[in-house]
Amino acid sequence: MYQLIIIGAGPAGQTAGIYTQRYGIKFLIIGQILGGTTNEAHLVDNYPGFKSISGPDLAKEFQKHLNVETKEEQVEKISKDENGFKVTTNKEEYQGQSLILGMGMKIRKLNFKNEEVFLNKGISYCTSANTSQFKNKTLAVVGGGDSALTNALKLADQAKRVYLIHRRDEFRGSPALVKKAQKEKNIEIIYSAQVTEAQGKDKIEKLILNTGQELDVDQVFIDVGGIPNVHLCGELNIEMENSFVKVNKNQETNIPGIFAAGDITNNPLKQIVTAAAEGSIAATSVYKYLKNINS
Ligand SMILES: Cc1cc2nc3c(=O)[nH]c(=O)nc-3n(C[C@H](O)[C@H](O)[C@H](O)COP(=O)(O)OP(=O)(O)OC[C@H]3O[C@@H](n4cnc5c(N)ncnc54)[C@H](O)[C@@H]3O)c2cc1C
Repeated sequence: MYQLIIIGAGPAGQTAGIYTQRYGIKFLIIGQILGGTTNEAHLVDNYPGFKSISGPDLAKEFQKHLNVETKEEQVEKISKDENGFKVTTNKEEYQGQSLILGMGMKIRKLNFKNEEVFLNKGISYCTSANTSQFKNKTLAVVGGGDSALTNALKLADQAKRVYLIHRRDEFRGSPALVKKAQKEKNIEIIYSAQVTEAQGKDKIEKLILNTGQELDVDQVFIDVGGIPNVHLCGELNIEMENSFVKVNKNQETNIPGIFAAGDITNNPLKQIVTAAAEGSIAATSVYKYLKNINS
């Protein structure tokens, strides 16, 4: 029996593990992919202490710092029992008094022709914080939510032109952001359009839309959100917000003993630094929770 089981070995789970060790809690960490989605980032240039580091290298640094064995197993079921929680993986069954859920989310892809071919060669699923590198470039942002609108506005400060491509005829993002984007002279909004193909030689050069338009571009950002890995939460009756696990500022869910951190939660910013920060808060809340129930 563990005092805590952390599910997920991305920045949220790994940081929770680093803090949990310091609190002297008997814990287990389970995660199929060590470092999680960080491995998919080509270059991370917004994590403190590393001016620019490849995602896989940063993931390795996290794992080195954590320095405990991670069970690289797939969790198939989580249920409540009289002692706390039962976690069933493809290999074993584990019991814990408390849980931190850090299973992250899957980035939504668009599946147009050559999307994979130009990944990190002009196509990316997240904007770099360093927008100055796009000075005088022609960019495209695909998406219609707050995140896509914010990114288009941020990029328009530097870029020569930003195409904002949205598949519907109106945005679902906040009206204030929509107004700003509509007013921005560097942003050209293309409504009711979908990307069908990317073309180029070594790097992306052109986007083809289903409207027949062909756009010359230097870089494309796909910003159509993600799908949180919440399917394991079903039996636990965890409260959700827009399909994400709802947490308070202590990373507590509505179920006593279950905490969540990182991309799986309803936090507004899905980044490595925020996932790590939430992991640290979740571990601290677990420490207080265990002290309470065991006193
Ligand atoms: C292409 C790309 C580039 C990015 N670039 C940046 C960047 O430059 N800077 C930045 O700050 N952020 C970037 N991000 C976002 C960042 O990677 C995430 O915000 C961060 O990794 C979230 O951490 P997490 O721990 O919540 O989840 P994740 O990193 O997604 O980790 C989830 C963990 O849960 C495990 N897991 C899930 N389901 C199960 C299961 N059933 N059983 C066992 N284990 C399970 C996974 O294997 C993994 O270990 C990028 C994301 C993408 C996709």
